[in-house]
Amino acid sequence: MKTFLILGAGTGGTMMANKLAKKLNPDEWKIVIVDQEETHYYQPGFLFIPFGYYKPEDVIKQKRAYIPRSVEFILSKIEKIEPAENRVILAQGNRTLSYDYLLIATGTDIHPEEIEGMNDGGWHKNIFDFYTYAGTVALGEFFKGFNGGRLVLHVAEMPIKCPVAPLEFAFLADYYFTQRGIRNKVEMVYATPLSGAFTKPRSAEALGGMLTKKGIHLEPDFDVSGVDSSRNVISSYDGRELNYDVLVTIPTNMGAPFIGDSGLGDDLNFVPTNKHTLQSDKWKNIWVIGDATNVPASKAGAVVHFEADTLIENIMLDIKGLPLKESFDGHANCFIESGYGKGMLIDFNYETEPLPGMFPLPIVGPFPLLKESFINHWGKLSFKWMYWNILMRGLPMPFPDQMSMVGKRP
Ligand SMILES: Cc1cc2nc3c(=O)[nH]c(=O)nc-3n(C[C@H](O)[C@H](O)[C@H](O)COP(=O)(O)OP(=O)(O)OC[C@H]3O[C@@H](n4cnc5c(N)ncnc54)[C@H](O)[C@@H]3O)c2cc1C
Repeated sequence: MKTFLILGAGTGGTMMANKLAKKLNPDEWKIVIVDQEETHYYQPGFLFIPFGYYKPEDVIKQKRAYIPRSVEFILSKIEKIEPAENRVILAQGNRTLSYDYLLIATGTDIHPEEIEGMNDGGWHKNIFDFYTYAGTVALGEFFKGFNGGRLVLHVAEMPIKCPVAPLEFAFLADYYFTQRGIRNKVEMVYATPLSGAFTKPRSAEALGGMLTKKGIHLEPDFDVSGVDSSRNVISSYDGRELNYDVLVTIPTNMGAPFIGDSGLGDDLNFVPTNKHTLQSDKWKNIWVIGDATNVPASKAGAVVHFEADTLIENIMLDIKGLPLKESFDGHANCFIESGYGKGMLIDFNYETEPLPGMFPLPIVGPFPLLKESFINHWGKLSFKWMYWNILMRGLPMPFPDQMSMVGKRP
C-alpha cells in the first residue's frame, strides 16, 4: 500500500480528501489526513459575527463529518516534515508518518506578536482581530457596549487571506453603526500599507470611492512600526500616529511555523510552489494548496476550489508518470459585502485585473461585476451553503476553473 498524506483538514485539505477518495484506487492507496483541531470553522462567516449578523455557532461544524469514511483522520499537531526521508513527525506521542505523496494544506494564521506592542495590554480589550474565532467573538461582545469613538481598521502587511475582508468589515461597520443610530458618533479610519484601498488599480479606485462615500478616511502607505496600548496609538515608520478608541487589526499573516522549521518555507513560512501546477518547487512528491502556498493568487476559499481541480488532475497524471498540466491561472472570484443588503463581485486571475461587466451564471446569475447590487449580497450569503454542501464534499461548482472574459468590459 502507498500512503497519500494530507496535512491540514480545513478548506483545502477536506476538499482534496474527498476528491482523492473518489479517484485513488483503495487497493493501492491509503489516505491519511492530520489536523490539530476537531472544529472546522467557516471562516468567511467571521466577518458577520461582530455585528450580530451571524451567531458564533453559525460558523462551526465538526471536521470528521466532512472527511470520507475511507480516509483516516488523525487529531494531532504537526511538528515537522522531513522531506528527504518522506516522513512527518506529529506532536501526539512523537508519532512518525511515512508518505509516498504529501499535500500541504495548513493555511495561514495571524501573528500579532510580529508588531511591537500589538498584543501587550490592549489585545482583546480594545484591540481586536476578526480573523480568528476567538477574536471575532470578543469583538462582537465589545461592540455591544460601544456607543461611539474612533475606530481604526488596520492591515499590517500583504499578503493576507481574503484581501477584501478588511474593506467588507469597514462597509459593514458603517452600516451597523447607522442601524444602531450612532454612526455620527463613530469616526472611522482605514489604515493600509497599500497606496490605495486595494491592490489592483480599477478595483482600488472603485473601492476607495466607496470608502469616501461612506465617510471612512483612507490612510494609505501606512507601514506599521508599533502600537502603544498605554496611549491607544498605532504608529507608522514615517512618523504618523493614529489614535484609536478601538483598533481592529489584520496582523501579519504567516504559514504554519512547522513549515519554516522543516526548511520548506519562505520568510513568511509560505511554501514555494509552482504557480501553474501547484507542485512544490523543491520536492516532486509534495503538493501545496490554498493559503499555505506562496503563489501570487488571492488567499481565498474560492481560489482553493479552483486550485483543487488543477491539483487532482496533476496528481493523477503524476501517478501515471505523465507530464503535469500548467492549468491553474490564479483565478479568484470574491463577493464583497458592502452593507445595506448589497454586495459587489470581482473575478480576476494572474494576468487580468478585476473588470466591470457581468458575471454569467446559469439559473441564478448574471451577477454585476465591480458594481453594488442586491443579487451580489445574496450570492455572498449563499456561499455558506455552497461551502458546506458542494466545496467540502469535493463536488464540482457551476463555474469554469479558468477565468473567462465572457461578460467582462476590458
Ligand atoms: C474573516 C475572513 C473572511 C473570509 N472571507 C472569504 C470569502 O468571502 N470568500 C472566500 O473564498 N474566502 C474567504 N476567506 C478565506 C478562506 O477562509 C481561506 O482562504 C481558506 O479557508 C483557506 O483554506 P486552507 O485549506 O488553505 O486553510 P484553512 O482552511 O485555514 O485550513 C488550515 C488547517 O490546517 C490546520 N493546521 C495548521 N497548522 C497545523 C499544525 N501545526 N498541526 C496540525 N494542523 C495544523 C488548521 O487547524 C486548519 O484546520 C476568509 C477568511 C477570513 C479569515
